Amino acid sequence: MGETMLELDKVFEDYLLNSEEEIGGVKARRRLRPGEALAVDNIITKDLPQLIRQLVSGSGRDVTKYRVYGSVGQLNRTLSYIPWVAVLRRDITKSTERGYYVVLLFSQDMQNCFLSLNQGFTQFREAFGDKVGNRKVSQVAGLAIQNLSIAPDLIAGPLDLSATRELGKGYESGAIVSRRYGVGDVISEAQFRDDLIQLLDLYDELVVKLGPNLLDHLESMSSDDYQEAANEIATVLPSKSLPTGSLPPPPKVAGRETGKYKRDPEMAAIAIQAAGHQCEVEPIHATFTSRKTKKPFVEAHHLIPMQCQNDFKVSLDVPENIVALCPGCHRKFHHARFGELKPSLGKLFSTRSAALKSRSINIELEKLHKVYKSDVEED
Ligand SMILES: [Zn+2]
Ligand SMILES: [Zn+2]
Repeated sequence: MGETMLELDKVFEDYLLNSEEEIGGVKARRRLRPGEALAVDNIITKDLPQLIRQLVSGSGRDVTKYRVYGSVGQLNRTLSYIPWVAVLRRDITKSTERGYYVVLLFSQDMQNCFLSLNQGFTQFREAFGDKVGNRKVSQVAGLAIQNLSIAPDLIAGPLDLSATRELGKGYESGAIVSRRYGVGDVISEAQFRDDLIQLLDLYDELVVKLGPNLLDHLESMSSDDYQEAANEIATVLPSKSLPTGSLPPPPKVAGRETGKYKRDPEMAAIAIQAAGHQCEVEPIHATFTSRKTKKPFVEAHHLIPMQCQNDFKVSLDVPENIVALCPGCHRKFHHARFGELKPSLGKLFSTRSAALKSRSINIELEKLHKVYKSDVEED
């Protein structure tokens, strides 16, 4: 194998020349015409996957256990900003949106490419929104790094892909361990093969150490992250509606905080959206405008606190049990003398009692008073 990886050079050159076009004087992402295939398209979707399959099976691995495929673009054939070729273990993930895998990523400025053990960002974006999702994917990467023995000549942690879009930024933050190739570097096929095998070994090591779902190892979200994710998701809520009736209790958090239940920021987002981003104690209560969403910032609070979940056979983490509060009211629910809180609590309980019953959540106001007279721990 004395050959050099000319494919990489071709992608660098071709993609930079061909990825944009001018429409009415405005530069835009280029669209492929029907039936058109750029040279770079072929390299990314055919040649490189083919070569990688050969290298994998040449290393003695069972190549049928991997899904190897590349993408230069998205729906409607618009060229993407970060073309990639991914190597997925089929028992770990079925698409690049989820799980973790080895992926060859080209930086947006076409100055570098990276062979990277990286993570699907879509699952983070769906669960936490872009901003908190980015923080979470990097937290998981950090956790993975702690569990691997990484050679000093590899890059552990974030990459610079010159990304301007959320998905590319997700790959920057989600990088666990990577090898960089610069434009103009002469890379032999033998070296590329060794690097690929090194990363596939680390991939296997991580599967053994942390299993298929890295997200399971995250501790529960901090209060700030939870509120931020809820506000962000509330502005981009998908139209997916929840099933009616009672829902099963949420899973418990793994790791050090065992015993606590997971809270889904999307449930809080539904409640915030229903409240029109206003405080449910009094809509006129002042709050501020969120930097990220440009809407009034309100906080999600579980009317029947999540610490009571053990007493219920149905989930308390449902929009019917989550109220939107201005930050002042929210602090009151956690810290005020009971006498100062009681009227607001009573008001919210009476507006929510029918909705709570629709989820088979039954509680007497007196019982709730007792809970609030002691400590209300989580949001
Ligand atoms: Zn308020
Ligand atoms: Zn709260």
